[in-house]
Amino acid sequence: MNPTKFIVVTGGVMSGVGKGIATASIGKILQMYGFKVTAIKIDPYINLNAGTLRPTEHGEVWVTDDGGEIDQDLGNYERFLNVALPKQNCMTTGQIYKAVIDREVAGDYLGETVQFIPHIPEEIKRRVLQASQGYDICLIEIGGTIGDYENIPFLFAMKGLERERPGDMLYFLITYLPIPDHMPEMKTKPTQLAIKLLTEHGIFPDFILCRAREPLDQQRKKKIETYANIGADYVISAPDIKTIYSVPLNFEKEKLGEKILRKLALQQKTQPDWTAWEELVRRLEQPQKRVNIAMVCKYVDNGNYHIADSYISVNEALKHAGAHLHAGVSITWLDAKTFEQHPEQVAMLKQFDGVLVPGGFGATGVEGKMMAIQYAREQNIPFLGLCYGMQLAVIEYARHVCGLTGAHTTEVDPRTPYPVIDMLPEQRTVKDKSGTMRLGTYAATLQEGSIVLDLYNRTGRFTHDQAQLSHVRDMDTFRLGKTPLHNTILERHRHRYEQNPEHIVALTKQGLLFSGYHQRDDGTKLMEFIELPKAKHPFFVATQSHPCFKSSLLDPAPLYVGFVEAALERQAGIPQQAVPLPRSISLQ
Ligand code: GLN
Repeated sequence: MNPTKFIVVTGGVMSGVGKGIATASIGKILQMYGFKVTAIKIDPYINLNAGTLRPTEHGEVWVTDDGGEIDQDLGNYERFLNVALPKQNCMTTGQIYKAVIDREVAGDYLGETVQFIPHIPEEIKRRVLQASQGYDICLIEIGGTIGDYENIPFLFAMKGLERERPGDMLYFLITYLPIPDHMPEMKTKPTQLAIKLLTEHGIFPDFILCRAREPLDQQRKKKIETYANIGADYVISAPDIKTIYSVPLNFEKEKLGEKILRKLALQQKTQPDWTAWEELVRRLEQPQKRVNIAMVCKYVDNGNYHIADSYISVNEALKHAGAHLHAGVSITWLDAKTFEQHPEQVAMLKQFDGVLVPGGFGATGVEGKMMAIQYAREQNIPFLGLCYGMQLAVIEYARHVCGLTGAHTTEVDPRTPYPVIDMLPEQRTVKDKSGTMRLGTYAATLQEGSIVLDLYNRTGRFTHDQAQLSHVRDMDTFRLGKTPLHNTILERHRHRYEQNPEHIVALTKQGLLFSGYHQRDDGTKLMEFIELPKAKHPFFVATQSHPCFKSSLLDPAPLYVGFVEAALERQAGIPQQAVPLPRSISLQ
């Protein structure tokens, strides 16, 4: 195998201009040319992982198969590349320093003074090389912007890698070109300054991706060419677009793939075939129908701004499912607290085609979320509950259908008379908050005749293959052949609480179906899915897992497909024929 090539993506001017999407899109293009691509995200903050960050500030926490709590950009990579990336593909300053200090304490550097240079960049390079092993191309996105103090060690490490591997490195600078309201002209000065800052680190960009409201004109390309001293051909225009999934297609209009391969002296391995991708993008941009989904949630405000990044993978999973069903999905994020303050407003949910309650933590908004769940259940509005959303659906059912007044989760009310949701036994002794939940991919066995079984069946998501289980936790019963891989699916998790087994009988008696469970190596079962039978409700399904973490544009998550299908049915007012959906859509 040829040595891995590295593509380093840096940002100038300001954050939040789509560096992650650009990185994912470059990866997608190279994948289309037949290369085995992986991607690393560098987060220069000190937190060991993203698990304790505020979602309204940093966006949602992404969970990997192997249980990493990671920056949301890894989600963008997976959604575009359709691959599962391990947690080692995200590195923070905290991880780097901790590894070096741990090694020093263990005596690995005996006699040496442990210093910023060389030890920190060496550790960064070691991790990059480890994560890139076995790949043709490794993308490395450096978080933040050039000029941030905390970026310095990472840029230094990249420079070091370039010296050791001349010809194997390529640099992208992603900038933003503002068009001020008072002077409607696209300004290149911030980009010129970003280039200057990058070159101060000895790094000369091979490509400059220019994000802006509008496409870049020739005059501005020329200007940047002169300042950056790179051909205008390598100045790529990246204007605002309707859907992020069109970004690789737009880059290819500028022949970005060929240009990258030329710079890296690589020959394309296959002829890119964008047919399926283009078709899905077309459906996202011009959907035949549109459904309106209410997401009743908590993490929606950041100061005066309303943000949706806290639920980015849920939003994207809805879009993926919609694209496969020729439907656009409009999402309205509703703050659950509003229903607590104004109970009459819950009736506004009637105008929506579906109600979704996503994951969450703590007491804020839980009563409001349960009011929304009760309304959806009683008014026959399609409902999808995710993680906390499933736990709250169970509590709502226990209170209002089973008559267990005061039922709750011990997360909110440790003294509840009916702890229908309780802490997982192994969580009781856990003290640290970071990286200690039930995290990562676990298997679940689905019940014959259930709605969820049908959905996983139709989307071809069953696990028949022992090899897929290598990174799955708690799987000895399968690995040792004690439990057959029958009706078995894999989903990712991130929670501390679970369905209390003591209340399952009472809930089941009143019609709630526990339609999927995970069997632990010690034989105990954890409930993973609930549903109401079709005869009782058009679509009332919830899961303890986060299926959004395994949803990509080409491979939508089964539960989201079922939910959007049900929303379409509600809108049309007639039950529609369930269509079989292949795992990767075939578009002939
Ligand atoms: N707070 C709940 C738990 O820890 C749900 C977590 C979540 O929704 N991700 O179990």
